[in-house]
Amino acid sequence: MIALMIHGGAWDIPDDLVEAHRQGVARALAIGWEILSKGGSSIDAVEKSINAMEDDPTFDAGRGSFVNSIGEIELDASIMNGSTFRAGAIAAVQNIRYPISLARSIMENSEHILLVGTGAVRFGREHGILQCRDDDLLVGRELERWKELQGKENVSTKDAFRKKRPGDTVGAVALDENGLIVAGTSTGGTPNKYPGRVGDSPLIGCGTYADSTIGGVSCTGWGEAIIKVVLAKTVVDMMEHNGGDPVAAATQAIERLEEKVEGYGGVIVLNREGVPAVFFNTPRMARAYCTSAMASARIEV
Ligand code: ASP
Repeated sequence: MIALMIHGGAWDIPDDLVEAHRQGVARALAIGWEILSKGGSSIDAVEKSINAMEDDPTFDAGRGSFVNSIGEIELDASIMNGSTFRAGAIAAVQNIRYPISLARSIMENSEHILLVGTGAVRFGREHGILQCRDDDLLVGRELERWKELQGKENVSTKDAFRKKRPGDTVGAVALDENGLIVAGTSTGGTPNKYPGRVGDSPLIGCGTYADSTIGGVSCTGWGEAIIKVVLAKTVVDMMEHNGGDPVAAATQAIERLEEKVEGYGGVIVLNREGVPAVFFNTPRMARAYCTSAMASARIEV
């Protein structure tokens, strides 16, 4: 059994952006699926799928990321190997072209899990990770959005997700033929965030979690709320106690997010058998998935 799930954010994706999201998650799925179906590893599938979305300016990850309140782009990302429990993550990092690749390098080459800011950049430089200029990540749409938000009354992040503010974080969960489950998430965070703000995406257990004996999860949505309920690990814990049912776990975890902390967002989940589930309480969520038990891939926005 092999399986791959991709997401490209959960929010009120406007009609005119649906097609770009559909194409973006479909392309990422195709890249990861090619790797898995040729016997490649979940680590490569998750990294390369996410790299494709970090390249695609449609999404808030890598190129196309949101700009913080002082006009900078700060990136968060994480990846976790569900068989070794090793993980790598970066937070509030600038000038990295492919944030998930730096997270992977930390997972594989460091005794640490989470590196932030200039230390993470330094680690990347030492390990051959591609650096870039701010302009390589900044797109006109986000510059305009940033200009518009300056001097305006601050809209809370919660309101941002309830309303039409974008949340185009990307993520992937894969199961390869060796039974390895890997989950990863990459984001530019939230629009106009305070410098140094860190969301759920780079926090193991919050935005990303994998345990090959149970399943893997990547989250998106209002990060401050997701952190409070430790959403990704909550989904995995629920599967551990419900006989491995990913649909029930995804549904109940998002219900908990909403009930306990009025949170909004979505999760993609694979259980250890590669059964996929997705659940969200936002108007839309961009996702794509395929398993060797399915006749064809599903692309949904
Ligand atoms: N969860 C991300 C964050 O709060 C945002 C998103 O999912 O779009 O940084």
